[in-house]
Amino acid sequence: VPRRQDVTQKPGMVNRIVIVGGGTAGWMTAVALSAQLPELDIVLIESGEIPTVGVGEATIPAFRDFNTLAQVDEEAFQKATEATIKLGIEFVGWGAAESRYVHPFDKDMFDFEGREIDGDQILLRAVRDGMTIDRADYSLDIAAAYSGRFATRVGKMSGPAYAFHFDAKLYAAHLRALAEARGVTRIEGTVVSAEQHAGNGHIASAVLKDGRSVHGDLFVDCSGFRGLLIEQTLRAGYDDWTQWLPANRAVAIPCKSVETPTLFTRATARRAGWQWRIPLRHRTGNGYVFSDGFVDEAGAVQELLSNLDGDPLADPHILRFTTGRRRRSWIGNCVAIGLSSGFLEPLESTSIHLVHLAIFQLLKYFPGRYFDPHLVDRFNADMNEAFERIRDFIIAHYKVTTRDDTAFWRYCRDMKVPETLEEKLRQYRMRGTVYRGEGDLFTPSSWNAILFGQGAPNEDIHPIAAGIPKDVLMRMMRDAKVRVVAQLARLPTYESYLSELDASWTAPSRIGQKA
Ligand SMILES: Cc1cc2nc3c(=O)[nH]c(=O)nc-3n(C[C@H](O)[C@H](O)[C@H](O)COP(=O)(O)OP(=O)(O)OC[C@H]3O[C@@H](n4cnc5c(N)ncnc54)[C@H](O)[C@@H]3O)c2cc1C
Repeated sequence: VPRRQDVTQKPGMVNRIVIVGGGTAGWMTAVALSAQLPELDIVLIESGEIPTVGVGEATIPAFRDFNTLAQVDEEAFQKATEATIKLGIEFVGWGAAESRYVHPFDKDMFDFEGREIDGDQILLRAVRDGMTIDRADYSLDIAAAYSGRFATRVGKMSGPAYAFHFDAKLYAAHLRALAEARGVTRIEGTVVSAEQHAGNGHIASAVLKDGRSVHGDLFVDCSGFRGLLIEQTLRAGYDDWTQWLPANRAVAIPCKSVETPTLFTRATARRAGWQWRIPLRHRTGNGYVFSDGFVDEAGAVQELLSNLDGDPLADPHILRFTTGRRRRSWIGNCVAIGLSSGFLEPLESTSIHLVHLAIFQLLKYFPGRYFDPHLVDRFNADMNEAFERIRDFIIAHYKVTTRDDTAFWRYCRDMKVPETLEEKLRQYRMRGTVYRGEGDLFTPSSWNAILFGQGAPNEDIHPIAAGIPKDVLMRMMRDAKVRVVAQLARLPTYESYLSELDASWTAPSRIGQKA
């Protein structure tokens, strides 16, 4: 496959990037690299014979930074992918079978009057003083999510922090259109092997089933779980984390929508795992993430089918995976992005974020043709750290439970967790705080939402919070409540947000334009 004629071959530089795989990771990489490195020759190979995973449909607010990085217009994207707004995740039945709480994206709306504390400490102090707390009273995200109200702005102030749910297949198609419009070359074919340079073992070309060879300077492996280049060719190795995250299967079944989309993902604990519910405009995505050591596939399908809120729209789709991380996701001239670099189950919607992060880091450490090993090491260290920190956060959801109704939950409650997580749980036990370390995606507020929501005990609180006079504490809480009510009253209903979005939508010609 010849190189693009209009790209000047610069010696010592990466001139051609070959992306193997056309799932979410492949097209996100193509669209971001074509925005940031428009002078390069970018080729994407995708196989018509090997399907994409196609179920990653919930994101976190950082996803909006990806849209900026990749120059994806947010309005056009929402329209093209049947997207809905997400203000957080509602967890049902996690800490105890009857419990329910929301992990919101924003912070609580307290005015600390100059004190160096955060809202979680105010709430813990109130609980210590014997008050019953409803977090929705203090968080605009939770209040807006439960009352179905949303706008990106409220007057001059920004509205609640938000992310999106979207249809994964439509998303890949949308990104493909953008990338191709920017000059990315798409090749349809199945890669059967890779040729390596004799000296350094770098990938020289991807060889297709029909005999074509696609040469490149930098290869991005977006081939999914199989890790075609990074594992099958370069043998990176894989750390299996199943002992901490025992789910190894998912069954997905979309169903008809029965109401205006809710503004949150729902994660409901089930017998041997949990069920996701992701509301889109044209349907609802559902899935059961489970461990086959505790329920078989037929049993999981049955459990999911009996917990759908609309008629199923497709047959059950079973996905099998091993939670863990590739030991090195960049080797020589090959970088693995997406499922080829590892997989953490979708409880906190972090996989697409890890794709975004890997693209961001690749751009940060973008190599010359000599592929400086220091840059490669930095990238691997950063990505390994990010994977491990997110892993710990997800494990905490399973570990901090008082459920003992099934063998699965008893296993989770009793399992030994990584030392890094043990330390965070100890911090919380000591004074209701988790300190944010280098590489932590999740803030202390997020940790608190989970640990508080699941009823983790704390022996003490921060001395600053403990020392607030009672009348000041009451005033802070009252004022925060008033602020939430006032902001909420200014938010239109989500239906009117959607109608306005539809009305402002002009034409597909907007695709490709900058936000
Ligand atoms: C059950 C489940 C639920 C999930 N939910 C979420 C979520 O809510 N939020 C989130 O952020 N993430 C979620 N994810 C993760 C998300 O789906 C993935 O991170 C994302 O889709 C990226 O996948 P990918 O592109 O790496 O791989 P894939 O979708 O598997 O794509 C691989 C691509 O490589 C191509 N390919 C493979 N082999 C070859 C070959 N030999 N030759 C040529 N092409 C080849 C395939 O054709 C395909 O185009 C979920 C994952 C699972 C399993």
